[in-house]
Amino acid sequence: MINITIDGPSGAGKSTVARAVAKKLGYIYLDTGAIYRALAYTALNAGVDVTDGKRVSEYIAAVDADVRYEGGEQRVFSGGIDVTEHIRAHRISKAASDISKHTEVRIKLSEIQRKIAAANNAVLDGRDAGTYVLPNAKYKFFLTADIGERARRRYAELALKGAEITIERVLKDIEARDYNDTNRDFAPLRQALDAEYIDSTGKSAEEVAEYIVGKVEN
Ligand code: C5P
Repeated sequence: MINITIDGPSGAGKSTVARAVAKKLGYIYLDTGAIYRALAYTALNAGVDVTDGKRVSEYIAAVDADVRYEGGEQRVFSGGIDVTEHIRAHRISKAASDISKHTEVRIKLSEIQRKIAAANNAVLDGRDAGTYVLPNAKYKFFLTADIGERARRRYAELALKGAEITIERVLKDIEARDYNDTNRDFAPLRQALDAEYIDSTGKSAEEVAEYIVGKVEN
């Protein structure tokens, strides 16, 4: 199976680009962040403090996350419930970032990703897809953009959904998530040595997707 990994910080445009690349190539798109979000969502609902390693460890021993495809679209499950429609809220971004710090969580969710990648031609977007989850992926990219632009993109997305939030708050939260992602001990966010670096500042997602498809098709 052919796997393409697209890693990078929050708001770099990974999901839009990865979805477009998958569509153009006829691959499946695996949004790995959605699995962290699904687990974070049900953990919060169960009253789990997602920063508490011991509580999170007990929680994931009892609850399984899962990914399924319906009509080519990814659905995410946690504890057997389809939570796909509930995971984009701003508070879930923060909780996903917190829950993803725990090594046991990363190991468990990485196994799910590896299974899907082994069975399908797939485009994965995440933080450690090219470094830890699939170190042997055939094509690897590291997508980033200027932090101001990342905040503006995320803010526009949230505003479109009617979220009441300021751009300053979004910027602060992105900075905090960047810090969490790059400073965790286990499988932190970094560019794989064999990944190609792409700066998407000032570029459209379509342009970046075309570029990646061009690389793969050559
Ligand atoms: O990509 P997305 O913003 O949906 O991810 C939500 C959070 O999950 C991120 O802030 C990141 O901390 C975490 N995450 C991760 N590893 C991944 C994907 C997401 O740690 N592969």
